[in-house]
Amino acid sequence: MPSRSLRVAVIGAGAAGLVAARELRREGHAPVVFERTDGVGGTWVYEADADASASPEPPGGPRRRSNLYASLRTNLPRESMGFLDFPFVAGADCDIRRFPGHAEVLRYLQSFARRFDLHGLVRLETEVVRVSREASGASWRVRYTRKASGGEKREAEEEVFDAVVVCNGHYSQPHFADVAGVDAWPGKQLHSTSYRVPEPFHGQVVVVIGCGPSGTDISRDIAGVAKEVHLASRSAFAATSDKLPGHANMWLHSEIECVQEDGSVVFHDGSRVKADVIMHCTGYKYNIPFLNSDATVSVDGNCVEPLYKHVFPPKAAPQLSFIGLPLKVIPFPLFELQSHWVAGILSGRFQLPSEEEMMRDVTAFYSRLGARGWPRRYTHRLRDREFENEDWLAEQCRRDGPEEWRREMFAAAIEVMGERPETYRDEWDGGDYDHLLAQANRDFAAHLP
Ligand code: FAD
Repeated sequence: MPSRSLRVAVIGAGAAGLVAARELRREGHAPVVFERTDGVGGTWVYEADADASASPEPPGGPRRRSNLYASLRTNLPRESMGFLDFPFVAGADCDIRRFPGHAEVLRYLQSFARRFDLHGLVRLETEVVRVSREASGASWRVRYTRKASGGEKREAEEEVFDAVVVCNGHYSQPHFADVAGVDAWPGKQLHSTSYRVPEPFHGQVVVVIGCGPSGTDISRDIAGVAKEVHLASRSAFAATSDKLPGHANMWLHSEIECVQEDGSVVFHDGSRVKADVIMHCTGYKYNIPFLNSDATVSVDGNCVEPLYKHVFPPKAAPQLSFIGLPLKVIPFPLFELQSHWVAGILSGRFQLPSEEEMMRDVTAFYSRLGARGWPRRYTHRLRDREFENEDWLAEQCRRDGPEEWRREMFAAAIEVMGERPETYRDEWDGGDYDHLLAQANRDFAAHLP
């Protein structure tokens, strides 16, 4: 039995906040979830109204809840994406595809909230604006604003909690590439966070910066209506200027060297195009504005530090924690394990090392990062360290980690996404991965009604 039951503020009701609330309550705590928008699901709530024709966007961009485009489908097979004990399987009247559209993921998160009776814990349209430690050091003051029924914001209110779990996501503050000469460049610039549908780009010449999942999807989406699409990739050869196979109007280039007043975009490979639009598919920055006055962690856009195992700041552990910071992972199962660990630490069922030991671990982590030649911005980029991290968390929680089939599906999805970005989602079935799906379905039987 847990030895302590705490009142815990959870900030955000996306996938991370929902599973954190469930784990905290399972452990005997009393979570209160603050959500600034009017529903649960976080980034999976699609907002059709982002105006992709409005440009240029100010660097830093607008703060949106969602950054999904209309055509977005998951980039992982649904079986691998779901929480460990709440399978993400296709039901009746839904998008049954193995890589479903975004609405299906939202439906899944909403049904997770219903199944575990989480709605009663969530305070919607309530934005946390400041989190600060009380002078005693034992509790945390949370300042928030709520929308009144008329729509306007009420006076800020404050409440004191025993602990705070930050689940505010990291896909709301766009990161724009630095492009030399952009101030004098006459075209439109926007970030993928504002992209919804291809129609506004009809007949235009569009340069897309970034070849990650969004850059790859969006450039192909736009190519259906645009005159030309030019992909600029940091990882492309310096001398690349190739037409992409299967497309009459798409080229791959190396990075942009500069842009010019006459509308030209000049690439490192020496090629140049006159473009109407530059679309930055260049990711997001960590942003935790309500912690600005707190000295226990620094948030510089690329990472949040120092954090023990990406979760606890040694100076404020265990009362302050962060769920969901790692990148290049299978998000939901990781959030679940992190949340389970935090809930058990708060109750006293699991133990943390001393502050000094945690700091030593953080220092050793950065030494390993440096030894690999990786910059600090790779702090939360797990990819090949993901399973090691999850196994470690599972061991702390004395439970099983993600299943072998899930790991193999993840690795396979990453591989085919790179090889066949346009077709991998629809080519998954009826071949190499059927044995993984069969095993997933056998395991799911224990969790399905
Ligand atoms: P979010 O979903 O961003 O939720 C954070 C919540 O916190 C939001 O509801 C926000 O309103 C709230 N909030 C923020 N600040 C405050 C505040 N001050 N006060 C109150 N509330 C606040 N993952 C996959 O598993 N598969 C995929 O195929 C996949 N595709 C993706 C495609 C795109 C384009 C993007 C951007 C992400 C994708 N992801 C995918 C990753 C996805 O972000 C995670 O799956 C997951 O949804 C993140 O959940 P979260 O709870 O950490 O953050």
